[in-house]
Amino acid sequence: MVSDKDLLAYDYKKDFPLLANMDVAYLDNAATAQRPLCVIEAERDFYLKHNANPLRGLYQLAMEATDAYEDARTAVQKFINAKHFEEIIFTRNTTESLNLVAYSYALHNLQPGDEIVTTIMEHHSNMLPWRMAAAQTGATLKYIECAADGSIADEALAQAITAKTKIVAMAQVSNVLGRLNPVEKAVELAHKVGAVAVIDAAQSAPHMAIDVQKLDADFLAFSGHKMMGPMGIGVLYGKKKLLDAMPPFLSGGEMISMVSRDGQEYAPLPHKFEAGTVNAGAAAGLHAAIDYINSIGFDIIEAREAALTRLAFEGMRQIEGVRIIGSPNVEEHKGIITFTIDGVHPHDIAAILDADGVNIRAGNHCAQPLLDHLCTGATARVSLAFYNDEADVRRLLDSLKTIRERMGYGR
Ligand code: PMP
Repeated sequence: MVSDKDLLAYDYKKDFPLLANMDVAYLDNAATAQRPLCVIEAERDFYLKHNANPLRGLYQLAMEATDAYEDARTAVQKFINAKHFEEIIFTRNTTESLNLVAYSYALHNLQPGDEIVTTIMEHHSNMLPWRMAAAQTGATLKYIECAADGSIADEALAQAITAKTKIVAMAQVSNVLGRLNPVEKAVELAHKVGAVAVIDAAQSAPHMAIDVQKLDADFLAFSGHKMMGPMGIGVLYGKKKLLDAMPPFLSGGEMISMVSRDGQEYAPLPHKFEAGTVNAGAAAGLHAAIDYINSIGFDIIEAREAALTRLAFEGMRQIEGVRIIGSPNVEEHKGIITFTIDGVHPHDIAAILDADGVNIRAGNHCAQPLLDHLCTGATARVSLAFYNDEADVRRLLDSLKTIRERMGYGR
């Protein structure tokens, strides 16, 4: 077996100009990842050599822009093992992908008495669109609660998903707890009652292999910027049969095949859901990010992130006043450690760490109902990526050890 020391020996930071050039321990990867040079270069290359409005021009340059855009779609299709190319819709981010499903699927398929089932730990992006859909259709939004360790019991799932359920929406990994949720079970139970399963993969797609055919999810959403791609590009995967039957989310250019004075025919998938000029430069960057991930492999990415998480978790547990939210078992934190320090506001934790060159997140992490449920209030969050190293974690721990003293405790 490879030791954690060996796993962490390789320097990935050299691929990331910002990390290589700045003296900072960047531990806010769940908010957005850093970009390797190949991603920055791919986007730059698009604008330097292939820029034209994709999907419309009939000249060489426009065809190159179209190719860059559609090649990115093929890369995403392979990345999540989707059966069909048309099942990949480019959006701006996870939030837009989930709203697309809420507006184009939920509003047209729900009626009073129906239920949408989600969990209390969802990011607001996987909660508010369903609340909107419930309010507009007369359906009810139900929350599955998690235990203090973040676990969702099979019985809780089975109890919540009933004949009334039409949509089950769940994050594969929580952005606060970092725990892998029982999405396979949720999909299975949803399908048993004829409901569709929507998976928020914003925090899983960057860190583990996803196979949508194996998972059998009906819809799955993630953001390019959290997996080292550019901001402004996201993905919605949807089963072809469902997407085909749904009306468009946004209307205008590019999403039609014919428009007359009084009517229109919509373009076939995937363009029906991609109104207006698309972000082909960002798609080219996302393509490069996928190639970069593939060149490393999720086995290495997962093993390194687990080693870094162990190092941080064990160190943090030794520090007086630190309380880790969620599971006491490090194996159940996929790179995310949310915590508080007795007597210190999380904003002060983040500010002191920043003074020591350590970047973390503090606040409610866009998951206020979860923090209310766990009665924690605001918290601080460390989130790791494979390109972090032992020095980043040591710097975090060294700074954390001093915080209570710097805030005046024990003097
Ligand atoms: N879901 C989860 C679990 C997230 O962590 C995030 C981002 N923090 C989102 C959804 C929303 O992603 P975006 O802001 O890229 O739309």
